Amino acid sequence: MLTGQIHLHLLSEPKNIVITTHHKPDGDALGSSLGLYHWLKAKGHHVEIVLSSDFPTFLDWMPGREEVIIYPTAKEQSEHLLANADIIFCLDYSAISRTNILEPLIRAASGQKWMIDHHLDPEDFASLSYWDSNAAATAQLIYTFICSVNGDREGMSPEIATCLYAGIMTDTGSFRFRSTTAAVHQIIASLIDAGAKNWEIHEQVYNSSTENRLKFLGYCLLNCLEVIPEYNTAVFSVSKEDLQKFDVTTGDTEGLVNYALSVKGIRLAALFIDRTELIKLSLRSIGDIPCNEICKKYFNGGGHLNASGGSSSDELSQVVNKFKSILPAYKEILTK
Ligand code: 5GP
Ligand code: MN
Repeated sequence: MLTGQIHLHLLSEPKNIVITTHHKPDGDALGSSLGLYHWLKAKGHHVEIVLSSDFPTFLDWMPGREEVIIYPTAKEQSEHLLANADIIFCLDYSAISRTNILEPLIRAASGQKWMIDHHLDPEDFASLSYWDSNAAATAQLIYTFICSVNGDREGMSPEIATCLYAGIMTDTGSFRFRSTTAAVHQIIASLIDAGAKNWEIHEQVYNSSTENRLKFLGYCLLNCLEVIPEYNTAVFSVSKEDLQKFDVTTGDTEGLVNYALSVKGIRLAALFIDRTELIKLSLRSIGDIPCNEICKKYFNGGGHLNASGGSSSDELSQVVNKFKSILPAYKEILTK
């Protein structure tokens, strides 16, 4: 649903625009940001993307990524841009806290906040919001936003199409999640028509592992995976030492949780990683098992029904035990 379209006329004159997205951007966050960036620039706006952190190497090929500003390495410039923006786009998040260290700057900024997102339970902070929790990806919403402002697909350059394709591809697990509707495939067809080279994008994202990353995967499968058959649940717990052993960097753990879900009969998969200060948790599920409810209630997080995340400041073993202690409450739904 688009609310606040009364403000759309602002785009008819060149504006100072800053695009923001959530901390540790994934393919959809970066793809949406860069897709919108190219479109707004072509319309004559002054546009910058400001991120709270670096992005993973498997996204380090997207058109325009070298122009992205990483806040920790350009604090003054980022602060100036956010404070002086006419419009701040808030992409792929609907709670400002998800921008981590950018949160106070975004809250304090006087520019209009325009949110485009597909996560549940949006906060009420935006002047304009284009929000649909049924959308497969924010990149899908960017596509329809651009088409509705333009009146048609006009101006969908190969760069924009490439970024949006990558966003939808990564957020749908390569078009296999339940969110992948016929409408999603129609948008994908249109993006290919507009110049997205689907085979190249798959190659860049999925065939770009380092040797270390692949060995880390093998190590985790052998040493960090526990299957709990009575609850159709599988859990990875990865310690700080495991991460150090393989020199694991941002993005190297992306997709790991899906291996736990790929065990036959498993309906709930969890990944616990001992990051620098917090334990980061990723949950994935099949059917109506509510990952988002579990993350929100017990792990200070949220997300979608079948894919959510959260964190905890407890010890790794305590967090894993807490998760296991929750399973009996979901036994019926896990074993039906
Ligand atoms: P991932 O497990 O890949 O980090 O995240 C899966 C989904 O859960 C994503 O849609 C992401 O936006 C959401 N998510 C991940 N971590 C958090 C968190 O700490 N808080 C909230 N509210 N959502 C999260
Ligand atoms: Mn997304």
